[in-house]
Amino acid sequence: MSRTSHHAKSKVGRRRSQLARKPQHLTACVNCGGPTLAHKACPQCGTYKKAEKKVVAKVSKVAK
Ligand SMILES: [Zn+2]
Repeated sequence: MSRTSHHAKSKVGRRRSQLARKPQHLTACVNCGGPTLAHKACPQCGTYKKAEKKVVAKVSKVAK
């Protein structure tokens, strides 16, 4: 293992430091106003963009 110059620990760590980023595309749902990921159906009410696309929510009764 002599050719490891292009896989240095510092470079790998620098590259992987960007992998832990979480999506920050939170928007407000137009139907219920809850936090929703952009381009995704609302996890609370299942509405996507003015109820054009109705998606059945995974959890019908949220008891939070
Ligand atoms: Zn909603």
